[in-house]
Amino acid sequence: MDGIVGVYKEVWKKLNISNDAFIRTSDRSHEETVVKLIDRIKKKGDIYKGQYEGWYCVPDESFWTELQLIDRKCPECGRAVKLVKEDSYFFRLSEYQDKLLELYRKNPDFLSPEFRSKEIINRVKDGLKDVSITRTTVKWAVPFPGDSAHYIYVWVDALTNYISALDWPDGDAFGTFWPADVHLIGKEINWFHSVIWPAMLMSAGIELPKKVFAHGWWTVDGRKMSKSLGNFISPIEMAERYSVDALRYALLREMPLGEDGDFSEKTLTARLNNELAAELGNLLNRTLTIAEKFDGELAGKQELPDPEIKKIDDAMLRLDTFGALNEIFSFIRAANKYVNDKAPWKLKGKELGSVLYNLLEACRIISILMSPFTPETSEKMNMQLGVKTGTLKDCRFMEYNGKAKKGELLFRKIR
Ligand SMILES: [Zn+2]
Repeated sequence: MDGIVGVYKEVWKKLNISNDAFIRTSDRSHEETVVKLIDRIKKKGDIYKGQYEGWYCVPDESFWTELQLIDRKCPECGRAVKLVKEDSYFFRLSEYQDKLLELYRKNPDFLSPEFRSKEIINRVKDGLKDVSITRTTVKWAVPFPGDSAHYIYVWVDALTNYISALDWPDGDAFGTFWPADVHLIGKEINWFHSVIWPAMLMSAGIELPKKVFAHGWWTVDGRKMSKSLGNFISPIEMAERYSVDALRYALLREMPLGEDGDFSEKTLTARLNNELAAELGNLLNRTLTIAEKFDGELAGKQELPDPEIKKIDDAMLRLDTFGALNEIFSFIRAANKYVNDKAPWKLKGKELGSVLYNLLEACRIISILMSPFTPETSEKMNMQLGVKTGTLKDCRFMEYNGKAKKGELLFRKIR
């Protein structure tokens, strides 16, 4: 386990991904929180002792009902399952059917993306069975309070991390950050997050997260990544070969977040060449080439249309990075077209100063807009433009106060 944690942390660092906190469910304070939460649910009367019988997939640590099995195998991984029967404590999930349906109805964004919500709603409408939350066979888990023969089932423990990381119930962090704006999860654990977790929170009298967003899976060249195909892609290798920003951009640009996507090196290089180098990099390079030779006054009126900030912002709030990047690139394209139309190489004096003003401001704004996607590139742009990092409110044409100095190309085309 320590090895895996190390790999995650290394990948995040190399890919320029930052995090505020990292929690492992083996942390002592986490265990205490799990017990506290279970106690609350017990006091509410939502936990009772019964007998569990189910099909268990050992590697996935998941139980399945007869109906969920596909060809009598685990529906998640396709491996063999075994029938397990034992005493167990149950959570009264069945009590929460109406409350969950009401939650989905009143908060249409709670289940995201929309196309995945139907499946959840229909399953909840079909009826909810109580869920077994303890095991007697697994000994390394958190002990169930009040019955030492039982251990809390691993997914209950895992879900609790969202609030144990914030020191629920009394921690300052809990007061500040809860309810969470979004739980971003893989589609394979959507049921736990969209149904069981909110029901547990309701039972414990804790506010619900505002949204659960289930993302899709990547295939590689149209095929599932698998050991037998040997087609695993190492993000670190891709980043080293093409730059971190090219990889980040390709992943966030490929499809709307939520859908399954296909990754191929060919697509990555096409985007690197045609979008990052030929559009974004080229715009900055052209602009600074003109700026280098210009020694007149940088004054003029805005001639380029403002970027569609509202649309970009809305897209980001929906976690639609694909849509946001589409809008940003429309602006980049408009700026490149402006250069072609104005043909600044034929201009001089006041006219040239005006065109240059528009281009420098456009580049400054683009650098801000691109910074969540390609942070290193934005830093390089700011250096060359001689400006400080701005925020969303600075994404409009203002007075240009930078000291532009042409530097290295942002992206080199791959042949
Ligand atoms: Zn499985």
